[in-house]
Amino acid sequence: MKRNFKINNLVRENIKSLESYSSARDEYKDASADMIFMDANENPFQTKVNRYPDPQQSKLKERLSEIRGVPTSQILLSNGSDEILDLLFRAFCEPKNDNVITLPPTYGMYEVLADLNAIDILSVELDTNFEPKVPEILAAQTENSKILFLCSPNNPTANSFNAYKVEELINGFNGLVVIDEAYIEFSSQESWLGRLNEFPNLVVTQTLSKAYGLAGIRLGICYASEYIISILNKIKPPYNVNQLTQDKALERLSNLDKVNSEVESILKEREFIIEQLSEISFIKTIYPSDANFILVKVDNANLRYDQLIDNGIVVRNRTTQPLCENCLRFTVGTQNENKQLIKILNEL
Ligand SMILES: *Cc1c(COP(=O)(O)O)cnc(C)c1O
Repeated sequence: MKRNFKINNLVRENIKSLESYSSARDEYKDASADMIFMDANENPFQTKVNRYPDPQQSKLKERLSEIRGVPTSQILLSNGSDEILDLLFRAFCEPKNDNVITLPPTYGMYEVLADLNAIDILSVELDTNFEPKVPEILAAQTENSKILFLCSPNNPTANSFNAYKVEELINGFNGLVVIDEAYIEFSSQESWLGRLNEFPNLVVTQTLSKAYGLAGIRLGICYASEYIISILNKIKPPYNVNQLTQDKALERLSNLDKVNSEVESILKEREFIIEQLSEISFIKTIYPSDANFILVKVDNANLRYDQLIDNGIVVRNRTTQPLCENCLRFTVGTQNENKQLIKILNEL
C-alpha cells in the first residue's frame, strides 16, 4: 500500500481549474431513445451513424467492467492507447519543465509523445536480462519526474518484468507509474489490474489492437483511480471513440471464446516457432517470450532482414535499439505463415 501520495500535486495548474466541455450528447446520451433529437445539429435522416456517438461509451465500459472486474468510473477509453499516453502527458507534465522516465529498449511512442509535448526524457536502460534497474531508476528521478513508463510484457524484448521489481518501482517512484499491458493476454504473469486500488499512482493501459484482433478500429483502454480518470475525462476530446469502433468492440467482446481460442493458437504457434528457430545456425539467441512476438539475435540483422524481404516476409529490424544489436522481431502469424517463415529461414 502506498502512503502519503498526493495525486493533486501532480496535476498541471491549468488542468486543475479546467471545466470539462459539455457536448450536446452529454446531456441526452442515448440517441437511440424514443425521443426527438433537435439538440446537436445532426442530419435527421438515417445512415446508422448520423448521430454523434456516446461521449462516455457507457455500454462498452460496462462490458469491459464485467470482463475485467474494474468499475466503469475507473475506466477511460480512447482512440488507441497512444491517445491515452498523450492525455497523460497533457494532464500531468508541464512543457519545458517536467520529465518522464523510460526504460529502453522499449516502445517508441513514449519518446515521440514526450517530444511532441516538450517534455524531457530521462532514460535508464534495462539490464542485460531486460529487467528494470530499480535502484538506478529511483535515483534518476527528480522533483519534476511525473511519469515512469513500464511496458510489461515489453516491446521489443518480449519479456514481462519481475513483479517484485515493478512493485518496488510503484512504491518508490514519486509520480505516476504507467504499466503498458498491450500484450498481457499472451503473458503467463497476472495483470496489475487486480492491484489497482492498492496504488493511487498506478495507471494500467491495455488495447484491443493485439489479442483482440482489432488494431484497425483504434481502441485503447486506461484503468486508474477514479480521480485520475476524472482528470483525463476533463481533457479528452468529447467524441474520441467513434460509433463504428464502439459497435465493433462490443461485438468482439460478446464473443470471448473466439478471442481466447485465437490467443491459445498464437501461444501454440509461438512454441512451434521457438522450437524451429533453435535449429537455425545463424540464429544466435532466442529470447524468452511472454508476448505474441519473438526477439532473436542473428549473425547480421541487416542482411537477414533484406533476405527475408526478398522472400516476401516483413519482420522488424531492431538492431539500432540499445541492447538489441543484430536483433530481429518476429510477430507470430497463422500456422501457414509461420511454416513459411521457417522454411525460408532454413533456405537462407
Ligand atoms: C502495439 C502496442 C500498443 C498498442 O497501441 P494502440 O494505439 O492501442 O494500437 C501499446 N503499447 C505497446 C507497447 C505496443 O506494442
